[in-house]
Amino acid sequence: MNRVGIGYDVHRLKKGRALILGGVEIPHNTGLDGHSDADVLMHAICDAVLGAIGEGDIGQFFPNTDPQWRDAPSKVFLEEAARQVAKQNGKLVNVDSMLIAEEPKIGPHIEAMKTNIASALGIPADSVGIKATTNETMGFAGRGEGMAAHAVASVQLPD
Ligand code: MG
Repeated sequence: MNRVGIGYDVHRLKKGRALILGGVEIPHNTGLDGHSDADVLMHAICDAVLGAIGEGDIGQFFPNTDPQWRDAPSKVFLEEAARQVAKQNGKLVNVDSMLIAEEPKIGPHIEAMKTNIASALGIPADSVGIKATTNETMGFAGRGEGMAAHAVASVQLPD
């Protein structure tokens, strides 16, 4: 049985925070704000994977009121999502994602992000898609107030 899931996340950009995307720290004058490391890309992918297996969302597994997840590296969320797939005897086929960020340039970091995400999910790096676009200076992402990410995931579950 083939299943798909969708994920979306957004975080605000703030001075004094590290910018972590796909598990890579990228030099920038602002970073994403949040309870965990605020890795908007990993969060969207996590929700896509959980969605594909009908397991709710990242907030149910990792409430942002729980001090244990403060500044947590978001790879632990992906590792848990992969565990949930395994628990249903499922196989994660691929994930694809889209990051919306006005700056900085993401291209040079995409391969490293793919490696991190693939490793956390236990799938090959070529099963992880990451694209990035600006928002053409429009809206919150375009003004550099935040970043957004969309993701989809495909999972095979036993019939
Ligand atoms: Mg988030």
